[in-house]
Amino acid sequence: MALNDKRLCVFCGKVPNTKTREHVVPYWLLEATGDPKRVVNFGQNYAKGKEIIKYSWSNFVAPACDDCNNKFASLEARIKPVVETLMRCEALTVADYVELLDWLDKVRIGAWLVRHMIENHPIEITPNFHISARMGQKDRMVAVYVFDSDNQGINLLGSDSLIFNSMPSCYGLRINNILLLNASSDFFCSKGCGLPYPKSMTYLADGPDAGRLALNDFGYEKEISDPITELKLFKPVVWLYQPIKQPTDDPAFQGGYLGHSNLFDSRIAERTLGGAGRFGALFRQYADHIEMLGNPDTPIDFDTVTGADSVTQSEIAASVYDLQVSLFSSVPYKGQPSEFDMAYRQAKLDDAEAHAAKYRERSPDQNDGHADQALAES
Ligand SMILES: [Zn+2]
Repeated sequence: MALNDKRLCVFCGKVPNTKTREHVVPYWLLEATGDPKRVVNFGQNYAKGKEIIKYSWSNFVAPACDDCNNKFASLEARIKPVVETLMRCEALTVADYVELLDWLDKVRIGAWLVRHMIENHPIEITPNFHISARMGQKDRMVAVYVFDSDNQGINLLGSDSLIFNSMPSCYGLRINNILLLNASSDFFCSKGCGLPYPKSMTYLADGPDAGRLALNDFGYEKEISDPITELKLFKPVVWLYQPIKQPTDDPAFQGGYLGHSNLFDSRIAERTLGGAGRFGALFRQYADHIEMLGNPDTPIDFDTVTGADSVTQSEIAASVYDLQVSLFSSVPYKGQPSEFDMAYRQAKLDDAEAHAAKYRERSPDQNDGHADQALAES
């Protein structure tokens, strides 16, 4: 199924009628960061005795339908100036950040699918969704870091871990002097943002629905939490959460979304982007307070990060794997997992730890901000 036939469209998962190729990391970005044909190291191939995957960025492509490619080309066109604005350390609007979050979903899932194609299904996991089915569908977060560095290049941090391999919910995208730490997972910030969430969320360990999430007992908090989640990050210049509502036909939820039992709930409307629809407002996390941003036109300036708060790219790279562990461990099992499942779960945790340790070793105790602490692509 799915990518065992390597010709399925990365966007819709159907057999494409044309042989269009989609650059998962867009070509304009490859050009903005060096020679697009440069060969980089994409980490270990778990299917081939952990041999290192070497690949040219320009060949980091996936099959796509003509129609899908055209549809997503307009998003790429809008994102290019957004990323360029970030690289100049200038303000973007709430609407720009929402679109940036969509694009981060797109690149994250695209990178996951391409890695599965390259590695040829390392641990027998069949990708069961594609970009269209996953973009803008689950609670998400972005933290923006900027560096005083002229180190050119791109990194897809975290895309080489076993956790990412089965659950592509967190990565870091380094583009020259900026690093975007992105996470997206079921209801991971709805509770803190004061929108409906399942008080019980478990992975079914056995039975016919093994591997699926069980969501029960929906409710919501009257107050917004500070911090929004328990996730620990180095201080970014911008840190935003966006809860996303999940549509349902269940008549218990008159609002049309899971947990939305009342169609006319003013508190929920206030916490929704523009007052209506699937997208929650953006919730900006500061060191000591939260700001709710429900108006798409509001500008978002960079916070200042100086002295004791400044960290190296390697330290942030390590934190991507920590975040993967934290998201991965946050949902408990219901039922009795098999011995294989338990061993595999432990292997994923050990693997993420090893990746994080590798980056931490590169970080000197004394952070003096030299360029040689910047990340290399390979
Ligand atoms: Zn398609």
